[in-house]
Amino acid sequence: MHRRITRRDFLNGVAISSGALAASKLSAASGGTDPEQAADYYPPVLTGMRGDHDEIYKVPHSLRDHDFWQNTGTSIDTGESYDLVVVGGGISGLAAAHFYRQAAGHSSRILILENHDDFGGHAKRNEFHQTGRMLLGYGGTFSIESPQPYSTVAKSLIDELGIDVSSTERVFDRKLYPTLGLSPSVFFCKETFGRDVLVVEPRPDWYADPAPKRTADERWKIFFAAAPIAEAAKRDLRRLYEEKKDYYPGLSSEDKKARLARISYAKFLTEIAGAHPDVVKYFQARPYSLFGLGIDAVAAQDAWGLGFPGFDGMNLDPNPGRGQNRDAIRTEEGERYFYHFPDGNSSIARLLVRSLIPEAVRGKNALDILNARTDFALLDKKNCPTRIRLNSTAVRVRHLGDPASATAVEIAYVRMGKLQTVRASKCILACWHMMIPYICSELPQLQKTALASAAKVPLVYTNVLLRNWTSFQKLGVSSIYAPGSFHSEVNLDLPVSVGSYKCPRRPEESIVVHMQRVPTKPGLPSREQHRAGRIELFNTSFETFERNIRDQLARTLSPGGFDAARDIAAITVNRWPHGYAYEYNSLWDPFWLEGGPLPCVAARQPFGRIAIANSDAGAYAYTDGAIDQGYRAVQELIARG
Ligand SMILES: Cc1cc2nc3c(=O)[nH]c(=O)nc-3n(C[C@H](O)[C@H](O)[C@H](O)COP(=O)(O)OP(=O)(O)OC[C@H]3O[C@@H](n4cnc5c(N)ncnc54)[C@H](O)[C@@H]3O)c2cc1C
Repeated sequence: MHRRITRRDFLNGVAISSGALAASKLSAASGGTDPEQAADYYPPVLTGMRGDHDEIYKVPHSLRDHDFWQNTGTSIDTGESYDLVVVGGGISGLAAAHFYRQAAGHSSRILILENHDDFGGHAKRNEFHQTGRMLLGYGGTFSIESPQPYSTVAKSLIDELGIDVSSTERVFDRKLYPTLGLSPSVFFCKETFGRDVLVVEPRPDWYADPAPKRTADERWKIFFAAAPIAEAAKRDLRRLYEEKKDYYPGLSSEDKKARLARISYAKFLTEIAGAHPDVVKYFQARPYSLFGLGIDAVAAQDAWGLGFPGFDGMNLDPNPGRGQNRDAIRTEEGERYFYHFPDGNSSIARLLVRSLIPEAVRGKNALDILNARTDFALLDKKNCPTRIRLNSTAVRVRHLGDPASATAVEIAYVRMGKLQTVRASKCILACWHMMIPYICSELPQLQKTALASAAKVPLVYTNVLLRNWTSFQKLGVSSIYAPGSFHSEVNLDLPVSVGSYKCPRRPEESIVVHMQRVPTKPGLPSREQHRAGRIELFNTSFETFERNIRDQLARTLSPGGFDAARDIAAITVNRWPHGYAYEYNSLWDPFWLEGGPLPCVAARQPFGRIAIANSDAGAYAYTDGAIDQGYRAVQELIARG
């Protein structure tokens, strides 16, 4: 499978769609103590600012700022007692509940606490309704994909949920966009490159015509005639792709890799390969979708692993080098194991919830899951062994007595402004690691430090519902790489039809366009870039997003007849200040390059009756990682008895 298939390659003022209308009714109903019981409680249709939406931050930030407890009254004991409480209803927490029930029996009493208004964590469903038709978007986790092969545990879970990964070739119409004459393109914006220019990419790839009508020379010629970059940069760009030069002659492959692991790809391009600085501007945003960083902060060795140009003549041994980032170590088996639901891995979350609470997500298989509507009112029913309590932020988790001998854990959480407690025999923290030190003060200090080092990678997945995509067709583009623009990727939805859900096939139909923004601060170390990006996302209003989306789409697509006011039907901005799990990087994490204990291992140690899951626990930002960590946490608790 070609790389471009995966994520790694890559209104308020808006006319209200029927989905958005339902959303505005939902917020009116949300004032009660149990908003999920309202008949119109249905978060997937909410538009505007989603992802980590505004409501979830107040309590965690107050804990971080150490003013939560002084402003909070006494807690209310719900009197509820469970075998297991899971904090965090993302894939890791849901999978942990699933594995626990498998091991301890279906009658085990399990409570999942989740601070968002929906379950799934990053695996978020965006649902649009337009002229009687439902169109889905992925608000976060895009697909089943992983650079490394899925483990036996993760694969078995995918099989058990009935997902036929091998059916990708049947459900994904790979030829649709090429048949319509659409190709991947680049948008050079005037702020970064001096002029707004949209031009088809010179290199054919998986999205492009499998039998290109133009030769490579012709494609480069067209690209260079339009691209607003220096003449020297044009020569360098093609040279990097086509020349076979060894920039470190006389060194062994190992020694070359050792050097490449210590230099950024940006520096490699300019200082080693002698490329013009415009080449750096062109490549800057290429690793965004994997690293949440530009090429200033990604090692040249990782760029080599990802297949970026410049290394063909260096005779590098194909095995991973020391300190290579896990995302940059591709395996054939990993590449082959790919499946995309139109709402992303939210369908995995929904299938897990169906297995835990069948009446809440009705249906029988992974083909009908897309059209299955979650009944949120049934997620937290008294007589049901597994319950999911949304809008509930855990604020304190402690053993009742000495952790070495205690028989119970008390979990305090805030729901609709009230502090409440439940008890459990065991607890799994499947939430973000950086938050755990604030809610579990009894952990050893070294473990807390390790947990706090799990910096999340901020990013934004924006879904724009367009009334038609005729402008894309007129311009002959299917996906747009936009280095320097507010959103660095603009893609027509992946044409996937599952069960009775059919993707749009005609340009006159409505479609979801997916855009990606990664906030970075080039020049800073990775964790500092992520921190600055998080702050930026917190301080960017929906109105600013909306203005930039309209402006970018208009400037890119208006030569094809696009009119933002007429063609945009709805916008959902999925903001993830706490996005990907941080993956170690040879430029910034000496222990990863030189060897040494990994913080994620110290962070995930069980403590008494508490175990720790989440993709942070493996420092691996993939669904299989989240599942594996949920499984491990359950095994640790079961082994404890
Ligand atoms: C935009 C985006 C795209 C991605 N795309 C892919 C992809 O295509 N393929 C892939 O394999 N992976 C992808 N990932 C990685 C993704 O993070 C993992 O696949 C996986 O979904 C992570 O699950 P998790 O349960 O570990 O964490 P999360 O999804 O973050 O779930 C943890 C949950 O715990 C909640 N929580 C935190 N603190 C508390 C508290 N105190 N009380 C209650 N709840 C709390 C959080 O709000 C969250 O809902 C993507 C991630 C992002 C952000």
